[in-house]
Amino acid sequence: MTSVISKPGASPRFGSATALTCRECGAAFDLGGRHACSECFGPLAVTYDLPPVTREAIEAGPPNIWRYASLLPVPPGIGSTRTTEPGRTPLIRADNLARTLGMRALWVKDERANPTHSFKDRVVAVALAAAIEMGHRVLACPSTGNLANAVAAAAARAGIRSVVLVPASLEPQKILASAVYGCLLVTVDGDYDDVNRLACELAEEREDWAFVNVNVRPYYAEGSKTIGYEIAEDLGWRLPRQIVVPVASGAQLVKIDKAFRELAALGLVPGDTVRVYGAQASGCAPVARAFRAGSSVVEPVRPDTVAKSLAIGNPADGPYVLDVVRRTGGSVTDVPDEEIVAAIGLLAQSEGIFGETAVGVTLAVLRRLLAAGEIDPGEETVIINSGDGLKTLDAMAGAVRVPEPVRPSLAAFEQAYRQASPAA
Ligand SMILES: *Cc1c(COP(=O)(O)O)cnc(C)c1O
Ligand SMILES: [Zn+2]
Repeated sequence: MTSVISKPGASPRFGSATALTCRECGAAFDLGGRHACSECFGPLAVTYDLPPVTREAIEAGPPNIWRYASLLPVPPGIGSTRTTEPGRTPLIRADNLARTLGMRALWVKDERANPTHSFKDRVVAVALAAAIEMGHRVLACPSTGNLANAVAAAAARAGIRSVVLVPASLEPQKILASAVYGCLLVTVDGDYDDVNRLACELAEEREDWAFVNVNVRPYYAEGSKTIGYEIAEDLGWRLPRQIVVPVASGAQLVKIDKAFRELAALGLVPGDTVRVYGAQASGCAPVARAFRAGSSVVEPVRPDTVAKSLAIGNPADGPYVLDVVRRTGGSVTDVPDEEIVAAIGLLAQSEGIFGETAVGVTLAVLRRLLAAGEIDPGEETVIINSGDGLKTLDAMAGAVRVPEPVRPSLAAFEQAYRQASPAA
């Protein structure tokens, strides 16, 4: 293992983080703006010398992701006075849905409660904190929609400029919901993988810009650990036995698993293995395909699915998703668009939770895994609702009927009511 650390020990600017370590060859580098290994070009991850942390200290922290600041690559004391921060989203016990599915105990981690209504606010908050420490003055990203919303909002709040690049074919709601924050919005003729390639080229040109998921990616990805920490805290400092997570780049799934293992290593939860299951849409299932083939190589695909937030054909963390699900005894499964749309409706109609297409993928995969006997209906299970259905309304246009208007009279109402409720 090569070490190119100039001075050992933590830099307080990045809390208890000590290095950026290559996920392929293990070479270690100074914390800073680097994101790829100079030895083998592998991706880098933040590594720590985690301090002793108590449940009480965490519980006494701010009501947002910064209660876990000592486990993140951010300066100590961050965020304790701010109020519009992500995190502490509800873990909703879904008894109606569990009954329908024949399960004993099911929870939905509901990420709609974040400032821009998806879990992307978590990753952006950590990326922004690191970017500010590194002196960046512009926040940028390629995005499948939710990330652009989160970057534009966080930059506005921090008083810095943002530049977001998205495929022109995204849901109009997601494009508008970025523009409203006053970002520089660039819509690109091409799919996400084209947008991402352009952003990687741009990041080489403009080293002073922080592309949250490109040159600041090691920090960005750490933000998803907070989903895992919160699930454990909300279960009374223990882990579920099974979790289903949507997979686009795969970073969220990999970091939730990392969070569970960190908590166990710190002695904050019993160290039971959580079986981790990845969920993809059949129209963009490169990781599910590799899993089924027993391969560790993820072959890129061209996405075509209603679940646009998951439409990454060449996922950066794909191989690491395969590592996690194979190590924990989970899997990666894909589902067609009809099942995705049906699952969005099932969640809304059983729990009053209107999630975006990504949760349709996640819940539809849970149903498949139950039907195949792969998930134990008697074990405690969590699924992630990573975003808000109001941003992907069009996906439901064909699935629910909006009736013609009626005259404002009792008779017209009675007639419409009889037509609408055949059982009555
Ligand atoms: C980005 C996104 C995901 C996937 O996250 P990755 O970390 O890229 O796998 C899942 N759901 C929603 C709603 C997203 O916006
Ligand atoms: Zn390397």
